[in-house]
Amino acid sequence: MKRRHFIKNASLTGVGLAVGSTLVGCAEKTSEEKKATAATSSTHSKATLPLVIATWHVIDATAKAMEVLQAGGNALDAVEQGCMVEEANEKGQSVGKGGLPDRDGNVTLDACIMDKHGNCGSVVYLQSITHAVSVARKVMEDTPHVMLAGEGAKQFAVSKGFEPEDLLTEASKDAWEKWKVEAKYKPIINIENHDTIGMLAIDKNGDISGACTTSGLAYKMGGRVGDSPIIGSGLFVDNEIGACVATGLGEEVVKTVGSFLVVELMRQGKSPQEACEEAISRIVNKPNSNYKDFQVGYIAVNKKGETGSYSIHQWFSMTKFQNGVNEQIQSDYFNKA
Ligand code: ASP
Repeated sequence: MKRRHFIKNASLTGVGLAVGSTLVGCAEKTSEEKKATAATSSTHSKATLPLVIATWHVIDATAKAMEVLQAGGNALDAVEQGCMVEEANEKGQSVGKGGLPDRDGNVTLDACIMDKHGNCGSVVYLQSITHAVSVARKVMEDTPHVMLAGEGAKQFAVSKGFEPEDLLTEASKDAWEKWKVEAKYKPIINIENHDTIGMLAIDKNGDISGACTTSGLAYKMGGRVGDSPIIGSGLFVDNEIGACVATGLGEEVVKTVGSFLVVELMRQGKSPQEACEEAISRIVNKPNSNYKDFQVGYIAVNKKGETGSYSIHQWFSMTKFQNGVNEQIQSDYFNKA
């Protein structure tokens, strides 16, 4: 089932988890308490560390990341392992194995990762390797480069022990076959054909890392690369300030260098929520913007552990795990008309 179909079903899965030095039990919250949590946690939460946020409804992924953080792991390990959960989930048709293919039937993955020192690694147009985010981490840690593409990225992954496999599942192949019947290729994205997983975490030491992984726009042109592996567009982390990750029509995010913009706006004093809103307004207020035809969403966190999320259209959401509560939070959005 697609993540967006869960949007109205906020979930609580954290039960009696140790959070920083506090023990928080939350399994038996009343519905009033849940409402109160949902209403306040996106922008005004008490900044108890560690915390993790992710795009869309990915409570298994944020649970994994929090498990790493609670065990004393760092934010970099947390975001990598959190993203890996979705990459391995064949039912998710926008990330890793099972991702929808390009218009020629090839599943091609984009991913990146960035650490507290500003180091980063990315892979673009990677084929046949499920855990693109881990390959991106290897690029960051084991090469003098930031980005590897296509066959070179795959060869590098194989040299690091990643096993090639067929990423096109029967379900995604069927969807592609159906799409081919009409095959009206439009290089735009709407709320039905995307879902990048972007994840940001702050560990117990207060250090921030982020990661992002996607199969990109479904039925895209062969060779197309979106924003997700582009540092500053799909993801940006500045450990002094905060971090941001994007989802939606990558072309629009790239044109506004969206994630870097959000972090810079936070540097200037905006809250994560205000910064996400300003970055969306840069897109929708362009002369002749056709924003009604596409979706873009941002999530952000600042050094204090405050978070925000905002999108052009309704039904974007963020999953947040903090204070023992792993919940989906519906984002506010621009296009309310
Ligand atoms: N941002 C991604 C891209 O343009 C798509 C997505 O968010 O799913 O490739």
